[in-house]
Amino acid sequence: MPAVEQGSAVPARRFAGQAGRDIVGAVFNANLAAILLLWWVGSGHDGVKTGADALNVIGRVTALIGTYLVLWELLLMARIPWLDDAFGMEGLVVLHRRNGFLIIWLLLAHGVAQTIGYAMDNGYGILQQLGDFIDHYDGLVPAIAALVVLIAVAGLSMSAARQRLSYQTWYFIHLYSYLAIALAFAHELTVGIDFIRAPLSVAYWWALYAVVAAALLYYRVARPLLRYDRHRFRVERVEREAHEAISIYVSGRDVATMPFEAGQFFLWRFLDGTRWFEAHPFSLSSGPGARHLRFTTKSIGDFTAGLPQLRRGTPVIVEGPFGLFTREACRSTKALLVGGGIGIAPIRPLAEVLARDGVDVRVLYRCRRQRDIAFRGEFDSLESRFGVRVDYLVSNRGPQGWIHADWFQQANLVRLVPDVMERDVFICGPHGMTRQLVHTLRALGMAPDRIHTEAFDF
Ligand SMILES: Cc1cc2nc3c(=O)[nH]c(=O)nc-3n(C[C@H](O)[C@H](O)[C@H](O)COP(=O)(O)OP(=O)(O)OC[C@H]3O[C@@H](n4cnc5c(N)ncnc54)[C@H](O)[C@@H]3O)c2cc1C
Repeated sequence: MPAVEQGSAVPARRFAGQAGRDIVGAVFNANLAAILLLWWVGSGHDGVKTGADALNVIGRVTALIGTYLVLWELLLMARIPWLDDAFGMEGLVVLHRRNGFLIIWLLLAHGVAQTIGYAMDNGYGILQQLGDFIDHYDGLVPAIAALVVLIAVAGLSMSAARQRLSYQTWYFIHLYSYLAIALAFAHELTVGIDFIRAPLSVAYWWALYAVVAAALLYYRVARPLLRYDRHRFRVERVEREAHEAISIYVSGRDVATMPFEAGQFFLWRFLDGTRWFEAHPFSLSSGPGARHLRFTTKSIGDFTAGLPQLRRGTPVIVEGPFGLFTREACRSTKALLVGGGIGIAPIRPLAEVLARDGVDVRVLYRCRRQRDIAFRGEFDSLESRFGVRVDYLVSNRGPQGWIHADWFQQANLVRLVPDVMERDVFICGPHGMTRQLVHTLRALGMAPDRIHTEAFDF
């Protein structure tokens, strides 16, 4: 049984929770204030005398703020551990999505306001002004192209469009945003009135871009490679865990010293001919301190369907750990862990760590059929060693399809776990199950900060 060793390395959370969010907020505000100050010194103090001036001011400020937010957009996805500590990967994805749409609106406002403002100043029509921009302003065509690319990427990220694309297609299209940012960079520095003859502003923006580029290179490229160099991860074996579930065991040098917490996930990249270009997130189904890392999965699409064919010895690049679905989130002395289907994977090590720590742990494991139950032996062992009670909530298939006992309606849940309101609740499973359970717990009066969820998509 992949054990969870006591005293194994746990990553220090330097920016956890609200304190971390406050620090990030302070850094964000300080830089925004600096940008606005540089704008004020550069052109803001000129004052507004005409309608055209007002539009040009709006155009400049929206460009500066929009570009600043683009840099944050990149930082949010740079896989920086302290941002993950503060917001969690799910929170970062939500921020990234909202920020992305705000950027589009700001940059569109910039384009519209500046075109009309300059047209009014020059006495031109809009088309004539656009022609003038293209003829006489360096970097404007690439900047327009950049805006078109960003709008296309944002459009494809809207849920209706996104659902029609595979994740990988959407992801690779998303990478065009980097091209857009590079295209827009020259435009800012050569045309932006706040940069022309303002070496301090130019230096400041170069510094901002350099910090973001360094963070991306370090956290997304160098760090995983350095970790690979240290641990030399390899696929050790692939084992059937249940009817549809398999576990991948990854071993390497000093794996037991890898700092992560039970319940967290890594991004896994298998370096063989067909998979090296994609990294996928999987929660660890083993705990820290074990001789190998293990994750457990079932076939959902192309990548997961191919995992049973992984060859022993395949090198693996591991990025992470990420996620806040951990021991630290539990504030009570009792916990209820609910896993649905393959969502049981992070529940398995979490149950052990909590129980070792003296927390009174109950587990509800919902699955469709007896043969889908994974980790049965390991849960039995937790039961006998730590008194962790595990209930298997199995729905059986009838002639009319799936017959689900409605386990998570209020009355049934309270019957199953009479002291549920004394527990912190951790939920990982299909969206429908999570939604229903959260709804029930809230209806029972449980505070949101005692309900901890992990979703298997971003
Ligand atoms: C935090 C987290 C933890 C996870 N833990 C587990 C686990 O322990 N066991 C398990 O079986 N599954 C887990 N998943 C889900 C797993 O990552 C996807 O099922 C897998 O990536 C699907 O890839 P595919 O090509 O087989 O299927 P596809 O058909 O390509 O994808 C199915 C869905 O999976 C998601 N997905 C696909 N690729 C990625 C990616 N690179 N990054 C993020 N999401 C992606 C998308 O929502 C997509 O719609 C986890 C997901 C997340 C976000």
